[in-house]
Amino acid sequence: MKFVYDFAEGNKDLKDLLGGKGANLAEMTNLGLPVPAGFTITTEACKEYLSSGAHVDGLDEEISAHLETLEEAMGRKLGDPADPLLVSVRSGAKFSMPGMMETVLNVGLNDESVSGLSRQAGGNDRFAWDSYRRLIQMFGKTVCDVPGSAFEDALHEAKSTKGAKDDIDLDAEDLKALVGVYKDLFAKHTGHEFPQDPREQMDLAIAAVFRSWNADRAVLYRRQERIPGDLGTAVSVVSMVFGNLGPDSGTGVAFTRDPSTGATGVYGDYLQNAQGEDVVAGIRNTVPLQDLERIDKQSYDELLGIMATLEGHYHDLCDIEFTIERGKLWMLQTRVGKRTAAAAFTIAAQLVDEEVIDLDEAMHRVTGSQLAQLMFPRFDMSGDPEVLTKGVGASPGAAVGEVVFTAEHAVQAAAEGKNVILVRRETNPDDLPGMIAAQGILTSRGGKTSHAAVVARGMGKTCVCGADELRVSSDSFTVGGHTVNEGDTISIDGTTGRVYLGEVPVQPSEVVRYFEGDLDPALVNEPLVAAVHRIMTHADERRRLLVRTNADTGRDAARARRFGAQGVGLCRTEHMFLGDRRELVERLILANTDDERNEALNALRPLQKADFLELFREMNGLPVTVRLIDPPLHEFLPSLEDLAVKVAVAKERGEQVGRSEKMLNAVRRMHESNPMLGMRGVRLGLVIPGLFAMQVRAIAEAAVALAGEGGRPRPEIMVPLVGAVQELETVRTEAEKIITEVVGDSGVEVLIGTMIEVPRAALTAGQIAEAADFFSFGTNDLTQMGWGFSRDDVEGAFFWRYLELGIFGISPFESIDREGVGRLVRIASDEGRATRPDLKLGVCGEHGGDPESVHFFHEVGLDYVSCSPFRVPIARLEAGRAAVESAGSDHR
Ligand code: PEP
Ligand code: MG
Repeated sequence: MKFVYDFAEGNKDLKDLLGGKGANLAEMTNLGLPVPAGFTITTEACKEYLSSGAHVDGLDEEISAHLETLEEAMGRKLGDPADPLLVSVRSGAKFSMPGMMETVLNVGLNDESVSGLSRQAGGNDRFAWDSYRRLIQMFGKTVCDVPGSAFEDALHEAKSTKGAKDDIDLDAEDLKALVGVYKDLFAKHTGHEFPQDPREQMDLAIAAVFRSWNADRAVLYRRQERIPGDLGTAVSVVSMVFGNLGPDSGTGVAFTRDPSTGATGVYGDYLQNAQGEDVVAGIRNTVPLQDLERIDKQSYDELLGIMATLEGHYHDLCDIEFTIERGKLWMLQTRVGKRTAAAAFTIAAQLVDEEVIDLDEAMHRVTGSQLAQLMFPRFDMSGDPEVLTKGVGASPGAAVGEVVFTAEHAVQAAAEGKNVILVRRETNPDDLPGMIAAQGILTSRGGKTSHAAVVARGMGKTCVCGADELRVSSDSFTVGGHTVNEGDTISIDGTTGRVYLGEVPVQPSEVVRYFEGDLDPALVNEPLVAAVHRIMTHADERRRLLVRTNADTGRDAARARRFGAQGVGLCRTEHMFLGDRRELVERLILANTDDERNEALNALRPLQKADFLELFREMNGLPVTVRLIDPPLHEFLPSLEDLAVKVAVAKERGEQVGRSEKMLNAVRRMHESNPMLGMRGVRLGLVIPGLFAMQVRAIAEAAVALAGEGGRPRPEIMVPLVGAVQELETVRTEAEKIITEVVGDSGVEVLIGTMIEVPRAALTAGQIAEAADFFSFGTNDLTQMGWGFSRDDVEGAFFWRYLELGIFGISPFESIDREGVGRLVRIASDEGRATRPDLKLGVCGEHGGDPESVHFFHEVGLDYVSCSPFRVPIARLEAGRAAVESAGSDHR
């Protein structure tokens, strides 16, 4: 295997092998740009080095051969005492990992070649000794683990002895003395002398760069950025050019467009008489790149020409590092530049206008996550607000308000026109009115699929959950020595999970205003909005997946429709059993006779009918999937503990306890050790006579009512938690009778389908499809039951450890676990469609709005994804991207 490539041998498409830096240096070389000569050692060599225990067969010889070519090209020999070639040894992985791995500069300097370097620099002793001391410092720290502070202390000492303020105030003699001190330090810490052999320096530096792939910070960074751990880094050996040889030298960074807004024009910084590391370290103030025109017009013009060449070549924003050595411009690095979400959209659309790329490519270059960032209101962090604590960023956004601790207080305060943040240990369905009234929700328990998180996302409301440092009481919370009382103001960031004390200023999102229909993209003078409009329109043209929304109210459905939803994929009807209807539900649960139960159900039916009618109206002409009631009924009753105390106290006082005691008995009877695995979903419907029938009748009646108004209802009844076809058949038989009776000849068609959210359902999907018009994958429960992870507990409890160990790179509740849970989805899709080729397939778990997961659902061949209203645009974009990506690159 070939382990070393001369720059002239590589190209930009060899990133896997040469790393980003190596591949782009090769590309620039081949474009004829002024790149210092060099070669790149491949990632394969790194992998071999790390797995073999530090030996790579044949690598040494290859390096020698390439070094010789390099020496010939430069007309100098590495470390030659008379006229030394110096090189930098640079890391560079496939994906940019800024500052995570190592680089050693000035390799080739030693006690003798330092004089040669001085001669090359026109007798500049100071420069030569400074370069040498930098080598010992960098080499010592990077290659031999000498603590960096040892060198820094020595440098500090040298400056204070001299009474110097800056490094620059040290002269050649001072630096020469400092080299002596550094060498002693080196020997003291390593037990051997600083290596004088240039080739040995280079080999040791290369090995150190290989090893730096597995440095703690690199491992951590990869985990966070989801970069695979087995790629390895390439190492580029590049002949040194110096930007610190005087006023006609310097170094800088440049962007071919503004990476923060996307605006056209040249951006960058320049630092005269300096090396690249000085720019990064911020030792002196840089000047804007435009000033280079005044300092060195020839280099400036050449740089602008090169930037235009690079943009034209890469068809994208490039960022560049360059050095000017005595008036000669050198390109040290380029890559397709990182940019903000706003710049990503704006630049993609600009490049379409400039006919550089087509719309497929523009869409490919932006992501749903970037779109999501553009949709959140954002905090203006310029005031550096105090962070109180951090929880799980569960529903993005920036919310500011007075703290309240109960739903009632939230409602009251909101009615008084106040903005509030509802703070709870955890929320339950009872808190819904408070959640609606609040600007944001903060809980101390629960993960991303906890009640608070799911409901908040559904409403597009900011939520931070699982902030486990909070000690929440009934009228205050404490954290890190602070006590925050009801009425105090806090700010919560649902993206980062950070909680701030006091009011942090908020900026609204233009992009949401556009989706809401408030901004006409044709009229608005806002390149970002125009770009989003253009790319979204294209995504809609390209995508195969339909996008529906999870919505329980007409208001949410209406908003989702404005955001582009093509129906409701999940209406969770349990949310309709709250508030003043709770009393009816209690009557239903406590009923002793059929009559009592029927009375409660009959009272609920018209209310439910009105709920459904509202939803069908908002989604007129589009399908609406209504799920029959899912959670355990005891969730609608007061807590066992509260009730037991209340009854005991009342008894003690000799008060009447009749109704409360009856209720307590019912709660005790219904108490379950594992309610998530207990009497919920279809099980409840099969056990409580008339419950599902009431809902089915209300759905059918609402549909007939809308048809009567001239509308076009398209109801779909969905049965939750089915694990066996017999369950579905039983519900279906009863439902069909009611539907036939209610619908009559109104022309209304009602589909009946099931959620696939129990592993057994996925594995017997071929049978279940016999009784289902559609499947909708409940990936929340499928993940819970597939992994055996309690969805309300595990994220806060131990996922941090699983993420740390790399058991998974991201919570499987957030992004679909393709291999396990995803496999269940695939099996159920294939086997369901084998039974019934026209079976409609969708997903309504949280994964329906996750960008990565949308691609998976496209691949599996689902018909639609359904997600919370605010994720609808994200799913539309990702569905478009998935369609183009799976069609192959020939599209682009
Ligand atoms: C699911 O389990 O994925 C689902 C959509 O249902 P719920 O979250 O209401 O259990
Ligand atoms: Mg479920």
